[in-house]
Amino acid sequence: MEYEAVIGMEVHVQLLTKSKMFCSCSAEAFGAEPNTHVCPVCLGMPGSLPVINRKAVEYTIMAGLALNCQIAEFAKFDRKNYFYPDLPKGYQISQYDLPIATNGWLEIETENGHKRIRIRRVHLEEDTAKLFHMGDYTLVDFNRAGIPLLEIVSEPDMSTPEEARQYLIKLRTILRYLGISTADMEKGAMRCEANVSLRPKGSKELGTRVEIKNINSFRFVKQALEYEIERQRKLLEQGRSVEQITVGWDDQRNITVVQRTKEYAHDYRYFPEPDLPPLVISREWVEEIRARLPELPDARRERFQQQYGLSPAEARVLTAEKEPADYFEACVALYPEPKKLANWITGEFFRLLRDTGTSFEDVKVSPEKLVKLLRLVDEGTINQNTAKAVLREMFETGEDPQKIVEKKGLSRITDTAYIQSVIEEVLDANPDALQRYLGGKESTFGFFMGQVMKATKGRADPKLASKLLREKLTELKKNS
Ligand code: ADP
Ligand code: MG
Ligand code: ZN
Repeated sequence: MEYEAVIGMEVHVQLLTKSKMFCSCSAEAFGAEPNTHVCPVCLGMPGSLPVINRKAVEYTIMAGLALNCQIAEFAKFDRKNYFYPDLPKGYQISQYDLPIATNGWLEIETENGHKRIRIRRVHLEEDTAKLFHMGDYTLVDFNRAGIPLLEIVSEPDMSTPEEARQYLIKLRTILRYLGISTADMEKGAMRCEANVSLRPKGSKELGTRVEIKNINSFRFVKQALEYEIERQRKLLEQGRSVEQITVGWDDQRNITVVQRTKEYAHDYRYFPEPDLPPLVISREWVEEIRARLPELPDARRERFQQQYGLSPAEARVLTAEKEPADYFEACVALYPEPKKLANWITGEFFRLLRDTGTSFEDVKVSPEKLVKLLRLVDEGTINQNTAKAVLREMFETGEDPQKIVEKKGLSRITDTAYIQSVIEEVLDANPDALQRYLGGKESTFGFFMGQVMKATKGRADPKLASKLLREKLTELKKNS
């Protein structure tokens, strides 16, 4: 029997608020001395009271709108009760039955066009502390406890590991465009759990699902799903059934490992958080936030095609992240040749990023400098190949292209006497070719030109060199 996979994703992202979800501690997630961003509220001291972070609610509404969701008029927080050393209160404040946003979608690109993945819900909760397992003991850092966490749950609409990866990439792009999270998986600012089941191809019913936790990169999402789909397929083909379990991805051994079976499933005893008022979200506030939403990646990609005449591929590559799109538009403002800029940025520029492992934020070449480089080519000061070499150096040092050209003597040679001397040398070094030319073989001209350009490392002004070469040969022919 042929089976098809069904995949649904639960994604958690840390929000980039200044303070934590329910207290005024710093929400800086990275780099601080452990246990310095703490207070009675986020340490779960008895008698302390939480206060809702308005910015976090605003960011959740932004995410909800960007994901085409309905924003609840009435939402509330609930206690999710369980014990774990990273959870000082013994419960997490989350949202159970009345989340802030529901029923949305986002669009991913697939082999045969676009596909909508429905979003079931977007809700707000708090992060747990971070545990560091050090062999026979464990350390706990409460700086992370109480950082606002957005949970985004999709419907089971993905059918391949690649679609799941595309979904995450798209989600990350949207969150970054909104500026509400770094959504950096490697740093734990975005974490995902993938649910996967198999069913006979064409069937409408859902099979038993397995939840995969601990996936911290796009690559692992794909690997873990591929592994899990294969594992389930083998079971089903043997006539056995899939158990509803939670597994973890072991990225050392490239296998999934059972973490929890159904009999150990949690009963969280959710109940409304008594220390917080429900959230009444006015339509005015929602509309005010909607009006402030930045242009989102899909819209920007469309606009890049319409406004700048870029190909779908160019527009997609440039808008996949916000920084290159901003960079491109900053360049266009200075140098209104979008096609040429798109070519340079998606070609040479991206190649250098890849080769040097530089991220866009660390790029030393400002739009002004890139444009200056292109102008040097337009003016004929340097040729295309030299410009590529200069860009490479600009990437490393951040230096001005003009300065690099001067320092390295890269500019086009227009010195007549010098070019004439190079021509003499080339003719002297190739007496046979010269004889053939004088004997009437005109095509040898191209060979001489090639030699002149080679001797000047491509820097001789080709028009001038060609004119001088022609003059010299005509003179020799007359005298022969
Ligand atoms: P829970 O809250 O217990 O994890 P949910 O029903 O809320 O369970 O589903 C969580 C995620 O699992 C959602 O993204 C959903 O799309 C996905 N999911 C649910 N059932 C299946 C299934 N049979 N196969 C694959 N994914 C599923
Ligand atoms: Mg789950
Ligand atoms: Zn605190």
